[in-house]
Amino acid sequence: MSIKQRILMLFLLVSFLSLTQKNRKVGIEDSARYSLAMSYEAIVDMLYLYEPFVDISVLGYSEFGQSIPLLKISTKSALKKKPILIVGNLHAREFYSSKFVLKFCDEFLYSLISQAGIYESANSIIDEYDLYVIPVANPDGLKIAQEDWDGIETYQPSVDSIKRIGPYSDWKANGIGIDLNNNFDDGNFEVKHGHLFEEDPASQGHKGAFPCEAKEARIIQDFVDTLVPLLTLSYHTKGDVLFWADRGTHSYFNGLDEKLNTKVANACGFKMARVSRNPRDYGAGLENYIRSKTKRLGVCVELSPPNDMVEQHPANMFKSLVWDKCKNMPIIYLEELSRLYPKYKYLFEP
Ligand SMILES: [Zn+2]
Repeated sequence: MSIKQRILMLFLLVSFLSLTQKNRKVGIEDSARYSLAMSYEAIVDMLYLYEPFVDISVLGYSEFGQSIPLLKISTKSALKKKPILIVGNLHAREFYSSKFVLKFCDEFLYSLISQAGIYESANSIIDEYDLYVIPVANPDGLKIAQEDWDGIETYQPSVDSIKRIGPYSDWKANGIGIDLNNNFDDGNFEVKHGHLFEEDPASQGHKGAFPCEAKEARIIQDFVDTLVPLLTLSYHTKGDVLFWADRGTHSYFNGLDEKLNTKVANACGFKMARVSRNPRDYGAGLENYIRSKTKRLGVCVELSPPNDMVEQHPANMFKSLVWDKCKNMPIIYLEELSRLYPKYKYLFEP
């Protein structure tokens, strides 16, 4: 064999190896408790493995300067697609939600590059939609709930001084003691008074002194205003229930919200919460902001069964309690929305 042939062989071998290296998933581990660092690492791996289909940027920084990453999953086409927003971990302790969102992204992206992926319709879905994903909306809170002070050591005394209800693992708020899902400017902030109400900053139940006082809420709300997602799925973690409508906005959707969510609830074995009656209870959540200010669909999805405890289910139960049941949920939402959209297009494209 000539030197030229040898170099050619070597070149082909290296190309082949790098191809086989790339044709793999990140592989979100079902039984691991995902820390913020593990989540960041998984996101970077996605950029490496699925580069043609994913863009990663930093949406902004938390109160403690942690990145809030944004993934955009799309085909690089000039055609305008319908934007969809998926959010995880607005609430600190709800680590199943960021893991679910990351695992969905990994499996979805893998399905775009490989026939072996679990989502057969992945390619047709990104012909119609751009998926915008914020896996960890409350990075400081996630770190606090896991007592992972690495990189936020200087903030520990101020966190310690905030009123704490229960152990750190029950922490729900952001780093400065504001419940992010009570801090959006949906028009009901003033009347909002949830059942866990706290006047001052606390590990849960404090809505903040004014709408979007929390940096994280401001960043996400500003992004929503720019993007105007057709559907927002905001993932939380207790109840196997969908909070899909509130009295203030339900009638606007003319039945689309009920049809869409009924389909998903039936397919995934979830309950549909009753239409929320009182803005004092439901106000100032991300899903409420989406519905009232952008007139688009917003759902708060509570993953995992209720257990009448504040404590989260153990990390190693993720597969049986969440993934096996819900892995198709975002796909079902998007396929059903495509089916219903022509009849309801007038709501969004007047
Ligand atoms: Zn929650």
